[in-house]
Amino acid sequence: MKALNNKLKKALNERKKQHRYRTRRITKSPQQIEMQVDNQNVISFCSNDYLGLANNSQIKQAAIDAINDFGVSSGASHLVNGHSIIHHQLEEELAEFTGYPRAILFSTGYMANLGLCQALVEKGDYVFEDRLNHASLIDGGLMSGARLQRYLHNDVSSLKQKIQKVDNTSEKLVLTDGVFSMDGDIAELPALSKLCKKNKSWLMVDDAHGFGTLGETGKGCLQHFSLDEKDVPIYMATLGKAIGTAGAFIAGSEELIETIIQKSRTYIYTTAMPAAIAEATRYSLHIIQNESRHLNNLNNNISYFRDCCRECSLPIENSQTAIQPIIIGDDYETLQISQELFESGFLVTAIRPPTVPEGTSRLRITLSAKHTHEHIDQLLGVLCKLIS
Ligand SMILES: *Cc1c(COP(=O)(O)O)cnc(C)c1O
Repeated sequence: MKALNNKLKKALNERKKQHRYRTRRITKSPQQIEMQVDNQNVISFCSNDYLGLANNSQIKQAAIDAINDFGVSSGASHLVNGHSIIHHQLEEELAEFTGYPRAILFSTGYMANLGLCQALVEKGDYVFEDRLNHASLIDGGLMSGARLQRYLHNDVSSLKQKIQKVDNTSEKLVLTDGVFSMDGDIAELPALSKLCKKNKSWLMVDDAHGFGTLGETGKGCLQHFSLDEKDVPIYMATLGKAIGTAGAFIAGSEELIETIIQKSRTYIYTTAMPAAIAEATRYSLHIIQNESRHLNNLNNNISYFRDCCRECSLPIENSQTAIQPIIIGDDYETLQISQELFESGFLVTAIRPPTVPEGTSRLRITLSAKHTHEHIDQLLGVLCKLIS
């Protein structure tokens, strides 16, 4: 045992030397703007709680009421006896909200992406992925056993070159983030959709960061581009980000959802999410449809942040979304800036390879509906002094 642990220790030390060692900070408050983290009070600029709903009192009450009615654990998988009427209603409401015939819940987004790939492709088929796709999409492609090809980031001609080389008899699946999670830019869905239709390929978009935040009423990246289910046959989104709860869903045709129920191991062999989480999600969807102020605040903060960055010449990227990275490049320097921000009372995570490509370490700043202009002013005041 000692020898084995020594081997691990050596590898861990190697990581530390490369400034790639990952550690966790401990929070003592709910997910909100003002947080207590590692015993320090900080203003958070790194959450995915874009609409500020993670600690919403009405959503919490919905969960509490459902716990009283349904208990805590769902107790079994959806296919045994864990699929409650609340899960079922939520699936129907998600289908209705997104404009697809059916929707199906998963316990996490990671599992949804693995399950989708498994349901649709196998050895001999092809999966095409944007180079900057989320790790769960890449892993889904790899685990399916299909041949995985990665095209240049958001470059439809790069995909076209690859997809046209494939014979017409193999199944083809194109996977893309809707909003790229570390860059904040939006996938070129209209062009991707056209290409996929022409080449008889499935197109699946993972809208983890767009669902709730993009489009006029927060329906996500399809609404942003005025596309519908005929343009993007498979839509996936997570519930732990803007929605403020947990889990994920896939929306698509009747046949697609039934195929997932038959074949996706990450759907079949896992316990259903607690019914209370499903009920909280129903309430969150209700809020998103009835209270536009959350989305309006977020959009106002995105514009304000970008205007202020331009004024003080901070190097922002081409992102219209809540994800506003500032690329530093060097791993160590990025960590230093993140640490100095923390000591000044701001929580902004340093994102390093392999999460992002080599040489593009960055501060991943995320905005929320709950930030005030003062919060943004304070952050940028410190950041301008640290970067220049
Ligand atoms: C967060 C995220 C996931 C994973 O979702 P979880 O519910 O956290 O497992 C998948 N895809 C993208 C693009 C994400 O950002």
